[in-house]
Amino acid sequence: MPAPPDPSAALARILSLIGNASRARGRPAARLLAVSKTRPPPAIAAIAAAGQRAFGENYVQEALLKIEALRPLGLEWHLIGHLQSNKAELTARAFDWVQTVDRPKLVAALARHRPTALAPLNVLIQVNIDDETSKSGCRPQEVATLAAAIAAQPRLRLRGLMAIPAPEPDFDRRRAAFRAMAALFVALRADHPGLDTLSMGMSEDFATAIEEGATMVRVGSALFGPRPPKP
Ligand SMILES: *Cc1c(COP(=O)(O)O)cnc(C)c1O
Repeated sequence: MPAPPDPSAALARILSLIGNASRARGRPAARLLAVSKTRPPPAIAAIAAAGQRAFGENYVQEALLKIEALRPLGLEWHLIGHLQSNKAELTARAFDWVQTVDRPKLVAALARHRPTALAPLNVLIQVNIDDETSKSGCRPQEVATLAAAIAAQPRLRLRGLMAIPAPEPDFDRRRAAFRAMAALFVALRADHPGLDTLSMGMSEDFATAIEEGATMVRVGSALFGPRPPKP
């Protein structure tokens, strides 16, 4: 295994690449979500010490342990993995953002369980933009209805859209998916002017995603080093 990168150097390098890609588009810098699935709390704390606030987790149970362990740091937690309805209550209590809302049932469950003592839960609609084999994400033509359902819930705050385009080796295909997402985002903003987040792009392709309009990129391995293979 290669040695893990020095966290503050890796973070600075990625923020600089994000800054360049954003400037080239004439925009404020896209936000970085540090994807911390499989990473233990000390690795997360090291990136946090270098200045990173927002972290993304895929699995609710795994995340809950880390959120608890790192609570004194006051970090912002995003769920970016598929959410089962039976985990909606735990999710609504522990996370700050859920990026993977893709069906009406989840909207109702998250709203019902968001504690009134907390700020409204930030929500992105996950769109299945091009991946026929993925079961996650709503279809593009379902976005408007889902957005209206979320906007009607005072305990939820609709912030925008999220996508995980198919990992096409052909970068032009990925670019086309990012571009289709940006068009959906612009169209949705006509009805919901407060939307500010288009979450797309990962370690391999975040610069391309920003060129096409991403306002948030989700980066794991480029920041923390290669992930250990799944058991
Ligand atoms: C794992 C993951 C990422 C980060 O992937 P890297 O290639 O390690 O940057 C981003 N988004 C989602 C939804 C993920 O599951």
